[in-house]
Amino acid sequence: MARLSLETLRSIRRNSSLHYEQTTRGTMRVFPRDGRMSKFVQMCRGMQEWGVKFDVLDREQILEKEPCLSDVIDRYTGAMFFPDDESGDAHKFTNEMARLATALGAQFLMNTNVLEIVRRSKSRISHVKTSEGDVHADAYVLSLGSYSPILARPLGIHLPIVPVKGYSVTLPLNGWKGGPTRPVMDDGYHAMMVPMGDRLRMGGKAEFARYNTKIDPKEGRRVLDDILKILPSMAANVDVDSALNWSGLRPMTPGGPPIVGLTSYENLFLNTGHGPLGWTMSCGSAKIIADLATHGRVLTNSVDPADYVL
Ligand SMILES: Cc1cc2nc3c(=O)[nH]c(=O)nc-3n(C[C@H](O)[C@H](O)[C@H](O)COP(=O)(O)OP(=O)(O)OC[C@H]3O[C@@H](n4cnc5c(N)ncnc54)[C@H](O)[C@@H]3O)c2cc1C
Repeated sequence: MARLSLETLRSIRRNSSLHYEQTTRGTMRVFPRDGRMSKFVQMCRGMQEWGVKFDVLDREQILEKEPCLSDVIDRYTGAMFFPDDESGDAHKFTNEMARLATALGAQFLMNTNVLEIVRRSKSRISHVKTSEGDVHADAYVLSLGSYSPILARPLGIHLPIVPVKGYSVTLPLNGWKGGPTRPVMDDGYHAMMVPMGDRLRMGGKAEFARYNTKIDPKEGRRVLDDILKILPSMAANVDVDSALNWSGLRPMTPGGPPIVGLTSYENLFLNTGHGPLGWTMSCGSAKIIADLATHGRVLTNSVDPADYVL
């Protein structure tokens, strides 16, 4: 699904101009000296048959790619480099996609709550009730992330999705160039840092807090503190108190794969449960739904749709 998403994203990019502070320089995952790296390398070897490319790097090669890790390089046993990986600002990307869709005739009903999905029969949806009135359509796609089970349950669809809260912290760098040039994941701290133009975005934490998305500044600070252990010189050069905290819910399924495809209602599709990789898998999931809704079947051989049905 991730490969299909990357191919689909690249084809959208070829056909339109999209600006979302993207980097296409690959990503790096660095491993502390605790023996976990060899297991991860083994797992990735198993994924090579699906086109996952990677290089194993020693400490010298890590520094060639990311000199900013020189202060802490002795912590690491090595790294894995994924040349095909990309990154960007998901919020900007989403707005860009909305702009393209609007130009093609799509209409977005903002600040509108879906209150109920109303069925006409055991096999057909009639309409959705919203805070702004009823909406009728030929087809419906349920894509409410962690909130999907709430509206699916009255239809007899039980989605095994649990919200897992995470934090993202974005720090303006004000011209400081001492950070990474591509996304770097530290496997020891489970912390991710992603350069975005003149900002550094950091992510981490996994909390079972039900639907509580309240931002606790202490938790945001913990994410930042982990990154400062990796980039100690940042504290002296950047105003770390200017960091902006955000929290969100990852819609987790028990096994990991998302739930994408048909339901027992002929005009209702599911596109949900993407856990920690919702953007990574978004364009591929959307392609599958578009194929199903317009052609009645999935047109690509890249994925087996049976792997993603409920
Ligand atoms: C800290 C953090 C970092 C992450 N980093 C990455 C990353 O690097 N790469 C990656 O691929 N993924 C990442 N993710 C995961 C990604 O954010 C999710 O997988 C993705 O947001 C799921 O998308 P979605 O559209 O299915 O659900 P959501 O993004 O949760 O969107 C669901 C939407 O439905 C709306 N909604 C809910 N109920 C109703 C209703 N009744 N009526 C109307 N609207 C409703 C909600 O308001 C929300 O806007 C991260 C998540 C977190 C928390």
